[in-house]
Amino acid sequence: MTHSLPSFALSERAARTVEQPIGYLMAQAVSNPNLISLAAGLVDYPTLPTQAVEQVLHELLSDEVKARLALQYGTTEGFAALRVRLLEHMAHLDGLTPADFSATADDVIVTTGSQQILFVLTDILVNPGDIVIAEWPSYFVYTGALATMGAQVRCVDMDEEGIIPEALEALFQQIESEGQLPRVKIVYTCDYHQNPTGITLSADRRPRIAEIVRKYSKKHRILLLEDAAYRELTYEGDAPPSIKRHDPRNEFVALTQTFSKPFAPGLKTGYALLPRDLVEPVLLQKGSHDFGSVNLVQHLLAAAMRSGAYAAQVSRLCGHYAHKRDAMLKALEEHLGDFEPGASGASGASGGTHWTHPRGGLYVWLTLPERFDTGMAGPLFKAAMAEGVIYVPGAFCYPGDATRATPTHAMRLSFGTATIEQIHEGVRRLAAAIRRAT
Ligand code: PMP
Repeated sequence: MTHSLPSFALSERAARTVEQPIGYLMAQAVSNPNLISLAAGLVDYPTLPTQAVEQVLHELLSDEVKARLALQYGTTEGFAALRVRLLEHMAHLDGLTPADFSATADDVIVTTGSQQILFVLTDILVNPGDIVIAEWPSYFVYTGALATMGAQVRCVDMDEEGIIPEALEALFQQIESEGQLPRVKIVYTCDYHQNPTGITLSADRRPRIAEIVRKYSKKHRILLLEDAAYRELTYEGDAPPSIKRHDPRNEFVALTQTFSKPFAPGLKTGYALLPRDLVEPVLLQKGSHDFGSVNLVQHLLAAAMRSGAYAAQVSRLCGHYAHKRDAMLKALEEHLGDFEPGASGASGASGGTHWTHPRGGLYVWLTLPERFDTGMAGPLFKAAMAEGVIYVPGAFCYPGDATRATPTHAMRLSFGTATIEQIHEGVRRLAAAIRRAT
């Protein structure tokens, strides 16, 4: 006779890992075609580089020698020719050469999306109870990983120029006065067109942020984790130089970038320039995960960078998204411009309706008067669903910082996948829901 078995005893790590609420929102959009999703952070389907990828792949696979190399296992650190190119690419974006970073291609690794390097870097530095400083609000998939690790998250305020240096300094002072400085391992920033707010850290503040992190690296080195996922999707003006630029000896800033946003997320390939001392521990850990990301894709991307197909795609995307961003800002002005207006700004601003004006990326952060509750169980979300539009409730983007109360009156709007017409109509429906939920 068989009897039912008891449940599995999940690890503490697994038990700490919670479902990403965004999954529900995506499913809603897929199952209801009349719903306009301003929630999805996906890149736009029609822009995906199908022909460029087909051509590069065809060329690669029709050369017997190259094809065999690409179809064999690669190395844990990634395809050498690609890493050389990526280092030059990162330096070029800063108007520099690799020597200005004191870096070689050995300090660059290729990963399975930039999510993998964010995870692995955190895994090799953070014990349960250690502190990671993150922006308020922050990128929720990364803060989900922090929950998995059992990290304590302490947050720093931003304004429309990104992290406020004085607030970062004050937070470090506070943590030090609590005797907790030895627990601080990472300062994480998504410093270009941030997910979720669209805010970019200003050029002036970059050296100051780097200097503060360096200053509080007293008994151990604190990693400044610069997640530049949206850096190349800049539609207005020049993107400021990286924070990495202010680490000329390659000591304490890890710069992570990805092919997901500027090229194709289905290739799931990211990369990082790492402080030299972290390369080996990262590779050991990545070796345990997968001993190398998909080799064929790395060969494909090296060829796409060499042929100019990558650069062409980035400039095509920037033109395309610039129109969509303009459409969203115009629609917000038209439908919500007169709705209890407040000071423009981001997380630090108080009172009234206001939204960010991103110069790139895929997101606008809309803040409503404080009496609104944008949560999924609240009346506004229900009204928005009834009107036929969804958004990401802002509360999902605030990591659990035990010292702060989570604001519930903001939302993330994305102009990634909606068409220009849908952006206009989606914002119109949203404004109707907001007026209804008042
Ligand atoms: N960082 C940020 C800020 C992101 O928005 C994303 C994707 N949503 C990633 C990292 C990870 O993307 P990928 O793993 O596809 O490179």
